[in-house]
Amino acid sequence: MKLFKKKVKIQYKVENVAKAIDRLKSEVGDSRVYNNIEERICYAFDATKQSSLPDVIVKPETTEHVAAAVKIANELEIPIYARGAGTGLTGGCVPIKGGMVIDIMKMNKIIEISPHDLTAVVEPCVITKHLQDEVGKHRLFYPPDPSSADSSTIGGNVAECAGGITGVKYGVTRNYILSLEVVLADGTIMKCGRRTLKSVTGYDLTRLFVGSEGTLGIFTKIGVRLIPMPKKILSVQAQFTNVDDALATGDDVINNNVLPRTLEMMDEISIKSVRDYGGLKIPEEVKAILIIDVDGQETAVLEELDTIEELCRKNNAVHLIRANTTEEREKVWAVRRSISPALYKIAPLKINEDICVPRSKIKVILDKVKKSLEGTSILMAAFGHIGDGNIHLNYMHHEDEKELVHKLVTEIFKEVVAVGGTISGEHGIGTTKQEFMRSELTPEELTVMRSLKNLFDPKGLLNPGKMFPVDDDE
Ligand SMILES: Cc1cc2nc3c(=O)[nH]c(=O)nc-3n(C[C@H](O)[C@H](O)[C@H](O)COP(=O)(O)OP(=O)(O)OC[C@H]3O[C@@H](n4cnc5c(N)ncnc54)[C@H](O)[C@@H]3O)c2cc1C
Repeated sequence: MKLFKKKVKIQYKVENVAKAIDRLKSEVGDSRVYNNIEERICYAFDATKQSSLPDVIVKPETTEHVAAAVKIANELEIPIYARGAGTGLTGGCVPIKGGMVIDIMKMNKIIEISPHDLTAVVEPCVITKHLQDEVGKHRLFYPPDPSSADSSTIGGNVAECAGGITGVKYGVTRNYILSLEVVLADGTIMKCGRRTLKSVTGYDLTRLFVGSEGTLGIFTKIGVRLIPMPKKILSVQAQFTNVDDALATGDDVINNNVLPRTLEMMDEISIKSVRDYGGLKIPEEVKAILIIDVDGQETAVLEELDTIEELCRKNNAVHLIRANTTEEREKVWAVRRSISPALYKIAPLKINEDICVPRSKIKVILDKVKKSLEGTSILMAAFGHIGDGNIHLNYMHHEDEKELVHKLVTEIFKEVVAVGGTISGEHGIGTTKQEFMRSELTPEELTVMRSLKNLFDPKGLLNPGKMFPVDDDE
């Protein structure tokens, strides 16, 4: 295939930073530009343990501020890193090549909610939960629900195509983005998409930007699709003595024409880590848990929950805890929500992979993971969204086990790809998985992606050093 395949080197001249700071102060405003060491340290991180100091931080309040900052960076050829709340798990907003961080957190307004059109328009740094709560006041629902919804931003969710617990029924961020206002690499402001629920006029540029990890443009307005709020949500926590029974139940639920709102599983190590955590009590014989939510009209969800409980019993569930009220649901979900912090009781370091496989292959992969760990010292907690095949594999380890974990992850990624799965269902690639891109993507796919990147960002200034394999990027 012959496509534009130029590899871009960043011409990053340190002396240009001082020029950029002067121009930023005059064109974006003195009070919105920071290059003191305290601020630079604060913007060196995301939720991974990577860090790298930026040279300058800009805190825009309008699209025009973003456009001006990007234009300056483009003219002076300085790397540009867009940043939302910094909750990313793959190093997405870490300024690994220095340069300029554009912290968009001040652009956090909900511009409009239109119940009649089932749409909302927001600035990029509206916190996900805030949007969910505000549209909820109109009895509307914005379904994408990453576990970080209390802190992550819609812009960050769009850039990573965030998923979450409701994916099995409602899909992921991609399914709810209708339109975008984007600042392109040279500072041009472009709009794409419509406020209609359908549009097939030309290429779907909006979708191309979703999941682009800050490498194609910076979103300054986002049009989202809403749906009516389900009237009732009920939950059940089903406890099993083994993972196989839990997985069989998940399959049975879907095979019995029930599409639950969530279908979450926790394995033995995940349970071990939360047992007794913050007063949670889970009986010793429990080695797998399912948390299943159903939502919709009251009579329908009651019927669905009865069916689910019957199927849990058929598959040897030892305890069933039904939650009818919000408080009861909180309790049922507390074990799941506690896993991430509780895991650190096991070991100080965590590699959290977010593989996704066809549902029929979940057991195959979990068995392979188990086998690969035999004879090693690594404890791995598997939990996640078995409804859509997206499992979080958490390799808990110590400093001297890093190499071993890397080897185990590399092996498991090969197996995942071999069964038709993906190395990332929702966290993105960033820096943490770029070395594995070639194990999943064909050379043709990678060539087209590289060509698109070069078309949108010929100087390679937007989030440089991310997503593409390092040797392809340099
Ligand atoms: C405890 C915890 C739980 C999590 N649970 C989930 C989960 O269930 N599902 C899930 O999918 N993820 C989850 N995440 C990961 C993370 O929250 C998501 O990736 C989220 O979408 C990141 O949003 P952010 O605002 O923090 O973005 P950041 O971390 O600031 O940035 C992430 C990426 O988006 C780019 N970006 C940010 N804003 C813009 C913009 N306006 N325009 C263009 N690019 C932009 C950045 O350059 C970067 O590449 C979790 C993280 C934590 C810490």
